[in-house]
Amino acid sequence: MNVEKTGRRLFGSGRCSSLSGSPGAAPMVHRMVEAMSQLQEEKAQLQEELVALRERLALCDSNQQGTSTQLQNQVENLKEKLISQAQEVSRLRSELGGTDLEKHRDLLMVENERLRQEMRRCEAELQELQELQAKPATPCPGCEHSQESAQLRNRLSQLQLEVAENKGMLSELNLEVQQKTDRLAEVELRLKDCLAEKAQEEERLSRRLRDSHETIASLRAQSPPVKYIIKTVEVESSKTKQALSECQARNQHLQEQVAMQRQVLKEMEQQLQSSHQLTAQLRAQIAMYESELERAHGQMLEEMQSLEEDKNRAIEEAFARAQVEMKAVHENLAGVRTNLLTLQPALRTLTNDYNGLKRQVRGFPLLLQEALRSVKAEIGQAIEEVNSSNQELLRKYRRELQLRKKCHNELVRLKGNIRVIARVRPVTKEDGEGPEATNAVTFDSDDDSIIHLLHKGKPVSFELDKVFSPQASQQDVFQEVQALITSCIDGFNVCIFAYGQTGAGKTYTMEGTPENPGINQRALQLLFSEVQEKASDWEYTITVSAAEIYNEALRDLLGKEPQEKLEIRLCPDGSGQLYVPGLTEFQVRSVDDINKVFEFGHTNRTTEFTNLNEHSSRSHALLIVTVRGVDGSTGLRTTGKLNLVDLAGSERVGKSGAEGNRLREAQHINKSLSALGDVIAALRSRQGHVPFRNSKLTYLLQDSLSGDSKTLMVVQVSPVEKNTSETLYSLKFAERVRSVELGPGSRRAELGSWSSQEHLEWEPACQTPQPTARAHSAPSSGTSSRPGSIRRKLQPSGKSRPVPV
Ligand code: ADP
Ligand code: MG
Repeated sequence: MNVEKTGRRLFGSGRCSSLSGSPGAAPMVHRMVEAMSQLQEEKAQLQEELVALRERLALCDSNQQGTSTQLQNQVENLKEKLISQAQEVSRLRSELGGTDLEKHRDLLMVENERLRQEMRRCEAELQELQELQAKPATPCPGCEHSQESAQLRNRLSQLQLEVAENKGMLSELNLEVQQKTDRLAEVELRLKDCLAEKAQEEERLSRRLRDSHETIASLRAQSPPVKYIIKTVEVESSKTKQALSECQARNQHLQEQVAMQRQVLKEMEQQLQSSHQLTAQLRAQIAMYESELERAHGQMLEEMQSLEEDKNRAIEEAFARAQVEMKAVHENLAGVRTNLLTLQPALRTLTNDYNGLKRQVRGFPLLLQEALRSVKAEIGQAIEEVNSSNQELLRKYRRELQLRKKCHNELVRLKGNIRVIARVRPVTKEDGEGPEATNAVTFDSDDDSIIHLLHKGKPVSFELDKVFSPQASQQDVFQEVQALITSCIDGFNVCIFAYGQTGAGKTYTMEGTPENPGINQRALQLLFSEVQEKASDWEYTITVSAAEIYNEALRDLLGKEPQEKLEIRLCPDGSGQLYVPGLTEFQVRSVDDINKVFEFGHTNRTTEFTNLNEHSSRSHALLIVTVRGVDGSTGLRTTGKLNLVDLAGSERVGKSGAEGNRLREAQHINKSLSALGDVIAALRSRQGHVPFRNSKLTYLLQDSLSGDSKTLMVVQVSPVEKNTSETLYSLKFAERVRSVELGPGSRRAELGSWSSQEHLEWEPACQTPQPTARAHSAPSSGTSSRPGSIRRKLQPSGKSRPVPV
């Protein structure tokens, strides 16, 4: 730019100087000559200077030419270098540059992806294996497969761990690759920047070179004007001088330009040098990156290799295991196939059966409906038949029941409602020894109803309904009374008395011992078993009361206050039945319950009296068992009462001169036993009036003694000599009770049924017309031993009291 301006200035000034010359006079000529000479000198000087300048210019030119060629050469060199550098860079690029690295990275990524897929596949396989392992193992404890399976599981967990490690390593490598890729991109960017700088520098240099060329060209172009100026100077010195100065200025300027160019060149050289250094640095960096990349690549390859090996190993192991398992599965499959082959025919038959059944099932609802209809009709018919037969049976049953009762009544009528049996106890230690303890009782071997007593040397015989010898067991005696007890279930009232002197065995017969129980316990046991037998049709409840009559006072043995005297009252319902308000009644369901009741009653009696034996012989003990039944089918209700009475001793206490309490007791006992005898006699003779109210005992037992009730008296007999008097009285009482002749009025009454309501008020026993009875003498007196004959020969005795006091 400066060179251009300078060129124009020089050209312009040259043209002006040619126009500035002026003509002079003589002095003026002189001065002009002088001036001319001066000018000539100056001109010569200038010419010299010009020549020098020309030389210098030529030199400059040559210098400039040389410099320019040098510069051109340098530029060419630089261009070549740049080209080679670009080539080098492209080569480097192609070798290590972005493309290859990218390719390598891509390859790595592809490989990475492949590895990932491989890993996923391995994971899927592992998953399958885990599922296979998770499946319930076939129950073959202790077999080698379970061990192998455990090993495989361990190996699997190891492999899983290794896979996890490999994954970690892979992610690290990925990270490293990413970092290196980033660094490479950075280097590339820097390289690009350097290249751009270089290109700029190159452009700048080429521009300068072009400027230099232009300057040189302009300088060359300036040569003719200089020549013109010299010629002009030669003509016009002032002009020449001016031109000279201008030339000098120009020269100066050119020199400055050249210096500047040199400076620029120097700078360019320095820049070139620095760019060389930069290139070297870049190369070194590139080499370093190359080595780093190579190292990373090698490391990565190694890791990949090891990963590949691990993977291959794991795959091989998994494959081997899978093969083994596959083998086992194949074997199983073969077994299953053979099973299938064997099952197929069975399946075919089953399918056929199934189809057949299906067809049948389709038709089944219709068949079922038909069958149901016919079955319903049959069932209806059968129900009707059963109903009618049930009705018939029920009718028959009721008829039979009535018949049975009728028969029973007939039997009772034939047998007599009141039966008397005797039981002789064995001789005991208490009887002592000697003549008083000798046996005074004998029996008829042909007739078990006859008893012979040797009283004061005279034999006396008695006929009763049955006589039990001392050998008879409790069971034998019970068997005799059993029928009476069972009739209680059918709704009959029953009274069983034990009569006799103290020590004759009343309590033994009624209560017995724990080892050998008497009538009381056996009766209840029998009732339980009978009731259970009938339980399907009848529902029974059995209740028990225990009472004692002492000195005509009634006490409750099961009550909380046994001292309390109880009263006998008529039922307020107008039924005429008697009842004892406050008398405790226990429901018993088992033999245990009975034992508890007996125990309780016994304890009450024991605590009440100090001498139980003596007291018990002075009082009547009653066990009242009530059996209530309901027939489930007919709704028929029955109530039977069983009175088991252990009477007070019948011995004649008054005779021995008893006083006070003893006498009072004796009077009460005598009164009640007489009343009992009177009642029984009245009942047996079918009298219109039965004196029930004469004693508490008969009054209490009124409903169990009257009507179609049944009474049994067990007369207890002591066999020893010393008791023969009492034995004689007891047997007389028994026979009198039993052998009462039935009067004509009674016969009529026999046809009707007895009930407690029909009984009239009692008249004193002594005023009552007494039935006839007498004790008949021993066979020696001419009385027949046959019951019938004895009865026929009986005559009325006229005695009013059976038991003497
Ligand atoms: P009571 O009650 O009439 O006063 P007990 O029943 O107390 O008489 O009997 C008196 C004694 O005779 C008792 O020791 C009893 O064991 C005994 N005894 C009574 N009858 C028999 C018998 N049939 N067999 C064995 N011992 C008997
Ligand atoms: Mg007794």
